[in-house]
Amino acid sequence: MSGSNLPIPAARPVIGEAEIEAVVRVLRSGHVIQGPEVAAFEEEFSELVGDRACVAVNSGTSALQLSLMALGVGPGDEVVVPSFSFAATANAVRLVGAEPVFADITPGTYCLDPDAASAVIGPRTAALIPVHLYGHPAAMDRLMPLADRHGLAVVEDACQAHGAALHGQPVGTFGNAGCFSFYPTKNMHAIEGGMITTADPQLARTLRLLRNQGMERRYENEIVGANLRMTDVAAAVGRVQLQQLPDWTEQRRANAKVLDSRIEGLPVPQVADGARHVYHQYTVAVPDGRRDAVQQELTRQGIGSAVYYPTPIHRLKPFRDAAGPALPETDRAAAEVLSLPVHPSLGLGDLERIARAVSMAGGAR
Ligand SMILES: *Cc1c(COP(=O)(O)O)cnc(C)c1O
Repeated sequence: MSGSNLPIPAARPVIGEAEIEAVVRVLRSGHVIQGPEVAAFEEEFSELVGDRACVAVNSGTSALQLSLMALGVGPGDEVVVPSFSFAATANAVRLVGAEPVFADITPGTYCLDPDAASAVIGPRTAALIPVHLYGHPAAMDRLMPLADRHGLAVVEDACQAHGAALHGQPVGTFGNAGCFSFYPTKNMHAIEGGMITTADPQLARTLRLLRNQGMERRYENEIVGANLRMTDVAAAVGRVQLQQLPDWTEQRRANAKVLDSRIEGLPVPQVADGARHVYHQYTVAVPDGRRDAVQQELTRQGIGSAVYYPTPIHRLKPFRDAAGPALPETDRAAAEVLSLPVHPSLGLGDLERIARAVSMAGGAR
């Protein structure tokens, strides 16, 4: 039997024997909260981000929130964010009492557009949060000079972009802080978890205080802090996954190449000049209101797919009344994007089947 009609899931998080053994080892050790495994995970992750300091927390959302807090962003401040992202990007801004101001994306890369960001910067703007959406680096070569010109902090939302780079520089090393997520569907996971990267030792220390009740030494609280610690159980899983990340990333990139060459009649993902895309998602655009029909046809053929994101953040209930310009490219993307399976466990037969199905369902007629 060829197995060619078996369902192909949109994503396939790995929880293998090595992850299970790591968890059991930690549980037997008795060190379960922010102990040696967390320290080792921080050390090992720093290799991915040019040896920057790494501060582990319990989620990518916590990473964003703590970064803003540590940078002193709060009530009265505005933070420029793309609306075409997961709501966590804007939630983090509101959680520290600041206001998100939404700016449009560059068509094709779906990342924060430097001109659009520039247009919404005002006297209250304190920071920018570029999102490396789908694993494609945002235009940091233009966003960093923009931030510098206006004296703004930059927090990179790299939650979907472990190992992505622009002109050879890894994401998470451009801004004051870089934020990664280890949620199960990301390119690597720790069940739940997040990491903050920074080149600033003072900021790293503040982040360490903020994640743990404001304490570096027990019961010697220095500032008001939260409990956003990572467990050693999560860190042990993250360490196992981190070892696999280079191979998985190459597999994602190879899978994307196959899809690029086989998909006909639909625009395949664009890669900006100098960008290293790590394909957290492989996202095509299906124009003319045909996206949902194409997705239904894929579902009928047992091929998983997903829409990230059907509703831009500025149209979600908590953010509808936020100030900001019209966002035509964001609205267009929300209506057209369709993410196809690209995860490392796909075989050539799967990729051919996905490409054939989407080309026939959505391609030129
Ligand atoms: C997943 C994600 C987050 C949040 O990460 P969690 O670990 O789920 O809290 C933030 N921003 C983006 C763009 C994400 O994809």
